[in-house]
Amino acid sequence: MSQAKAEQTGGCLCGAVRFKVSGAPLWAAHCHCTSCRRATGAAMVTFAGYRRAQFAYAQGAPQRFNSSPGVMRSFCGNCGTSLTYEGARWPDEVHVHLSTFDDPAAFAPQAHVYTAEQMPWLKLADGLPRHATTAPAAKPDRP
Ligand SMILES: [Zn+2]
Ligand SMILES: [Zn+2]
Repeated sequence: MSQAKAEQTGGCLCGAVRFKVSGAPLWAAHCHCTSCRRATGAAMVTFAGYRRAQFAYAQGAPQRFNSSPGVMRSFCGNCGTSLTYEGARWPDEVHVHLSTFDDPAAFAPQAHVYTAEQMPWLKLADGLPRHATTAPAAKPDRP
């Protein structure tokens, strides 16, 4: 994802929690799973995946919530904005909600995952690869 800037910043709606990421993300993808939908109140959620060393909080500290076994989600304790997803399946990755970036259009998602759980009324024609659950581990577009 060479078009990504060297550093990106982002944060929650109220501004209490700010973060920064350095370097290009490993991948970016839309997730249609039931857990993401419930956690955010959105029909689908878009993530950018980074190595842990690439991600840091710059201001404030999020609340954390164990949303399912092996999964920790973070959000702003003041305004509730969802910020990150961390899964035991990807121990060296932080999946950041792309829509919380100051420049969320900086790079484009490459795939859809958990399409088996996609809402039937959500019609998409972006032509991106679709995976019923996660993408194969060897591919860059796995969340
Ligand atoms: Zn906030
Ligand atoms: Zn999900």
